[in-house]
Amino acid sequence: MHFIEALKLRSKLFFLFILITIGLISIGIMGYLHINTMKKNIDGLYFGSLVPITELNEVIQTYHNGLASTVYKASRQEISPSQVSSELEASLKHISKKWKSYESHFKRYDERDYVAYADLEIQRVNSYFLRIYKVSKEGQNLSRININTLEKKVSFIHNIIQKLINYETEMARYERKKFLESFTETKNQIGFILFSVIVAVLLISLYVFRSIQKDHTKLEYATKKLKQANKKLENVSYTDSLTNLHNRRYFNHVYEKELKRAKRSMNYITFMMIDIDFFKQYNDTYGHVAGDLALKAVAKALQDRLRRPSDYVFRLGGEEFGVLLVETDESSSAKLAREICDSVRECELKHETSDANEFVTVSIGVVCCVADDALDDKVLISRADEMLYEAKNTGRDRYIITSNVSLAETILSA
Ligand code: GH3
Ligand code: MG
Ligand code: MG
Repeated sequence: MHFIEALKLRSKLFFLFILITIGLISIGIMGYLHINTMKKNIDGLYFGSLVPITELNEVIQTYHNGLASTVYKASRQEISPSQVSSELEASLKHISKKWKSYESHFKRYDERDYVAYADLEIQRVNSYFLRIYKVSKEGQNLSRININTLEKKVSFIHNIIQKLINYETEMARYERKKFLESFTETKNQIGFILFSVIVAVLLISLYVFRSIQKDHTKLEYATKKLKQANKKLENVSYTDSLTNLHNRRYFNHVYEKELKRAKRSMNYITFMMIDIDFFKQYNDTYGHVAGDLALKAVAKALQDRLRRPSDYVFRLGGEEFGVLLVETDESSSAKLAREICDSVRECELKHETSDANEFVTVSIGVVCCVADDALDDKVLISRADEMLYEAKNTGRDRYIITSNVSLAETILSA
């Protein structure tokens, strides 16, 4: 059952659809086979019930072999009168029994007249044999019996009963033909109903499956949209609206992740704390709106300079920015810090009240070291802060880098 769970909804529905189809077709085939077996049984049963014909045949046989032959033998005196009487008695009883049995079967209205007529004739012929029986019972000689009369009587009753036999045989054939016709008709009707039901069930299930599939597609689409919206929301929550850089929230998230990764692979990690020089004066001189534009320009300069996918630039707050680099050694980090200073200055944002330069400049505190398990998470930030403080104190528009994350070992740069 594991493979069913592994299937997608669409495949699951298809699987279910195939199962239902196979089920319905099996039911159809089973029903068809069953109905054919039923037909065979009923047909067999029907021919097994040709009892009336058998009974009538026995009656005829008894007239010939039981009555006529006994009387014939008696006329030739081949058997004794007592034998004659007992043979006749037994045969008459047998005839009467079989005839009554035949009469007891259902007869249609139009058949009853002929059966009554036959009954009357049988009684008449039987009374002829009864007379012979009585004579033989008295022990009289039967040699004078008229064989002609005997033959006439037997042949007469034979014809009457034979007509009944012919009629019953015809009826049996006719009934069987009718049964087979009605069977074929019923079978066709059942087949049609079964086929219609199968087609209807298949169509309905197809419709249901399609609508489930539609719902599922809608759901998939909604989920996709929701994911996209979530992603957007996440991006918004991680983005600084003024500069479009990542914000402090994202910095906290990424910093922890990248530090762990660097520790695992014992790689270089670099953190830069960047602060605009004399920005308070800038705002005071050019106004807050110009200050915002300057923040944007600095952010762009940082972004333009740091283009690797693994380079992160953040606005940490106010006029402070952060840069996080991985797999960058000390000299590359120092080179990058210098280039950042240069590119901000080269934006040539006029800053008349700055003591550092005629244009807006930044100071950078840089920490670059190989991450190991002993590296404290907070020390990078605090050391970068210290380096920034140093840069500010030593004239601004510069960076100061250190690789020592325990001692204040600094490298001064111009
Ligand atoms: P220093 O060189 O020592 O960094 O001097 P500073 O004037 O830059 O230092 P300080 O931290 O005292 O001033 C930062 C100023 O940055 C104060 C505030 O007016 C300005 N500032 C902070 N955030 C914003 C902002 O979103 N927009 C604008 N226009 N100015 C901001
Ligand atoms: Mg500041
Ligand atoms: Mg400042």
